[in-house]
Amino acid sequence: MKLYDSSRREKVPFIPLEEGRVRMYVCGPTVYDDIHIGNARTFLSFDVIRRWFTEQGYEVTFVQNLTDVDDKIIKRGQERGVEAAQIAATYTEEFINITRQFGILEPTIRPRATQEIGPMIEMIQELIAQGYAYELNGDVYFAVRSDKEYGHVSGKNIDDLMAGARIEADETKRDPLDFALWKSAKPGEPTWDSPWGPGRPGWHTECAAMVHRYLGMPIDIHGGGADLQFPHHENESAQAESCWHTPFANHWMHTGMLRVNGEKMSKSLGNFFTLKEILEKHSPAALRLLMLQTHYRSPLDFSFERLEGAQGALERIANTIANLAWAAEKALQEEPAETSEFAQKTADMCSAFSDCMDDDFNTAGALAEVFELVSASNSYLDSGSALCARDCLMAHDALLWALGVLGIEVPSVQVDELPKELIDLAREMSGYQGESVQEASQLLIDTRAQARKQKDWPLADVIRNAVSALGLLIEDTANGTRIKRA
Ligand code: AMP
Ligand code: ZN
Repeated sequence: MKLYDSSRREKVPFIPLEEGRVRMYVCGPTVYDDIHIGNARTFLSFDVIRRWFTEQGYEVTFVQNLTDVDDKIIKRGQERGVEAAQIAATYTEEFINITRQFGILEPTIRPRATQEIGPMIEMIQELIAQGYAYELNGDVYFAVRSDKEYGHVSGKNIDDLMAGARIEADETKRDPLDFALWKSAKPGEPTWDSPWGPGRPGWHTECAAMVHRYLGMPIDIHGGGADLQFPHHENESAQAESCWHTPFANHWMHTGMLRVNGEKMSKSLGNFFTLKEILEKHSPAALRLLMLQTHYRSPLDFSFERLEGAQGALERIANTIANLAWAAEKALQEEPAETSEFAQKTADMCSAFSDCMDDDFNTAGALAEVFELVSASNSYLDSGSALCARDCLMAHDALLWALGVLGIEVPSVQVDELPKELIDLAREMSGYQGESVQEASQLLIDTRAQARKQKDWPLADVIRNAVSALGLLIEDTANGTRIKRA
């Protein structure tokens, strides 16, 4: 397996630190509002990465934090006249609900910043004791220049950063690049007691302390959106490595940004759609399919046309899967002596799919394989020749496996989706007494077959016409007859 390590800026083989295990940490949301589909893209990408590791037999420990104290949460609370904790509680619940609806697996551990203040204070004390941090009027800063490795996560050079740094008028820090580990309390803000007086931790401190506490260092993979690589990830790493003198993360992975009309989707630009509003009208599977059709590192251009396109593609896949299931039941039961061309295609698709996923989680390539098998299946089903049940089932299972690995739930397409009017028709034509559309359609097929056998052509025609009046079609194939939508 290979992955693109964004701090080394190259694809590298993945070798777990501990055999058979993957320990990964992905920065979670700041819970001050509903997440937008840009955020969702990052969480989805790591969900699929995690699923693929699990599929490959690794035991994955996946930690994701909730930033439940932060400037944005405090500001939102002030705007609405409620406690910051209330805002955080509301949007934590929303986040958990909506990501679950989107099929994102729960993290193994989901620590919350406000529950981790003690370990953060200990880490800051340790950094001060070792000379990496200093206190200034109740704030504590990390002295960036004390860390000789600073810049290695994002590939930035400290002097370039210095040249670009903005020096604030009221700047009291020793160096403009230094960042806050602890912020002294301002009136009306949530606070915790600390050796430096009441205050709250800085954002970067949170993840460093949680990685150390819940996973131990180094971890295999640290991930997040590309916008977090600098300064957030650089600063997390600087603190943790300075404090514990151990590498922080073996690999860094960053996702590309979701864009609308070429611009990054973000709250501040106002060009966002929340995940909640999209899932009110569209299926989670269609959004997942759309997102996974682009490689996780590339920018992804979102549009409703593309979402509708993905919905259509999903329905085509679902129909093919249903047709394969139908054909597997009706087709020739004997097993052919040799591997057929179609069975070979299925096997090839499975291995090409795995190769794509093993090559830096190339879901776009993996899905192209799925679409190829869908077309091969359709050609096989429509070939007019006798079908092999085993081969149909193999392709059916392969498609379900591939989509399952990506977390794409296939909409069920069943004969039951045929209109209920078929029941009335079967009552009239065949004396049917039950309530199942599936049974009714089978009975109509049988009655028509019986009529044809007895050369009762008018009756056979009446049934055909009545069925077609419902917008349906009686289809005779080499493997049997069925009623389907015209
Ligand atoms: P935040 O709550 O702002 O910290 O963001 C949560 C996650 O979403 C982070 O990993 C961000 O990098 C990621 N993110 C934010 N905007 C986008 C976007 N437009 N596309 C992809 N990921 C994003
Ligand atoms: Zn983080």
